[in-house]
Amino acid sequence: MNYKAPRGTHDIFGINALGLNVLEQKARQIFIKHGFEEVRTPIFEDASLFTRSIGEATDIVEKEMYIFEDRKGRKLALRPEGTASLVRAYIEHRLDVSFPSGKFFYSGEMFRYERPQAGRYRQFCQIGAEFYGSLSPSADAEIIMLACDVLSSIGIEKVNVHVNSLGCQKCRPLFRETLVKYFTSIDDLCQDCLRRLQTNPLRLLDCKIDSDKFINVPKMDDFLCDDCKEHFNLVQNLIRSVNCTYIVDPKLVRGLDYYTRTVFEIRSNALGAQDALAAGGRYDNLVKELGGQDTPVVGFALGSERVLMAAQHSGFFSTLNKNEKVFIAIADQDLISEAFAFSIKLIRNGLKGNNDISVFGPVDNKSLTAQLRFADKIGASKTIIFAKAELGEGKVLVKNMIDKTQNAVFIDQL
Ligand code: AMP
Repeated sequence: MNYKAPRGTHDIFGINALGLNVLEQKARQIFIKHGFEEVRTPIFEDASLFTRSIGEATDIVEKEMYIFEDRKGRKLALRPEGTASLVRAYIEHRLDVSFPSGKFFYSGEMFRYERPQAGRYRQFCQIGAEFYGSLSPSADAEIIMLACDVLSSIGIEKVNVHVNSLGCQKCRPLFRETLVKYFTSIDDLCQDCLRRLQTNPLRLLDCKIDSDKFINVPKMDDFLCDDCKEHFNLVQNLIRSVNCTYIVDPKLVRGLDYYTRTVFEIRSNALGAQDALAAGGRYDNLVKELGGQDTPVVGFALGSERVLMAAQHSGFFSTLNKNEKVFIAIADQDLISEAFAFSIKLIRNGLKGNNDISVFGPVDNKSLTAQLRFADKIGASKTIIFAKAELGEGKVLVKNMIDKTQNAVFIDQL
């Protein structure tokens, strides 16, 4: 049998793995500047944690979770997102009592049984941040700016920031009721819409199939209570004050149940159907619903693979791995130990003070011609050749692989 990576997963090599690392590193630096602290939570959790927090009637819980039983029959799930785990950890470690205004960030793999396509995978990486304990619109604005700053740190500047408010427990029920009446009056809804009308009517707003039928749809904006309205206006004033251009998008509802008030999504024109780079919002009831003290939270997550796809157009990848490649060759097989010792020294000390080099070789049992061919194949700029005659004088041959010139140089001078 020829094994293949499971559907919807992929192997990440070389420059792409480096890109992922650099993105995480840049995000980490930005989060730390904003006073956020890193948290690493397990990759699997009690399955019911996700059902309760994300919501029974959401796509993730209904059809996308990887659920399994362990040897003791416990029902566990691979995490489909980071928020539920972080809230669980926050409560479990009693931070809701001892450290209620914490700022945390995470990065790592998430798992969703979705239909794979470009930009949508079954295993993907997210980077996210969450600000606990603040009801202030400035926390929402800071989270939106954080997401934008991480994107711009790798050259992604042209994005569309969509914002909306979903109201609170006071004002959303009337909106929901009005929506149900409105949608019930529409014929020929798709199967998903018919189902969601019973369970999660807000989700009909972002249905891609039926959207043309929805004319004069009720807008949450008209139902927001005074507090929610003021909150939303302030969030907008704050992000405007730092020159963020955004669109108020009444259709933005997000796929997870826990959101209250602000929701946002950052989209890229450079991508196809899966154009959301980052998304988030406020969840003021989640900590309490999961058993903690009443603590508001606002957060976001970005999808690293999608962000890196958008970065293909931003010139980010051309800034990565500029190391000069140097190949160590041996003209005589019995010089392998001298060449090996030299290569380790070179890795440790660099070449004439230049530490940005990557060293390859030596390899034995290959002719010098084959070694030089290999050096060309990996894109080495120089090959350092160990040959008996030159080594006797304390020298090696340095071959410039671009113009193919070659000089004997004292090893000490390298
Ligand atoms: P969500 O957790 O659904 O709010 O998604 C946050 C971000 O994660 C999205 O904006 C995407 O960039 C990314 N994302 C979500 N689902 C997937 C997936 N199946 N494959 C790749 N990226 C994803």
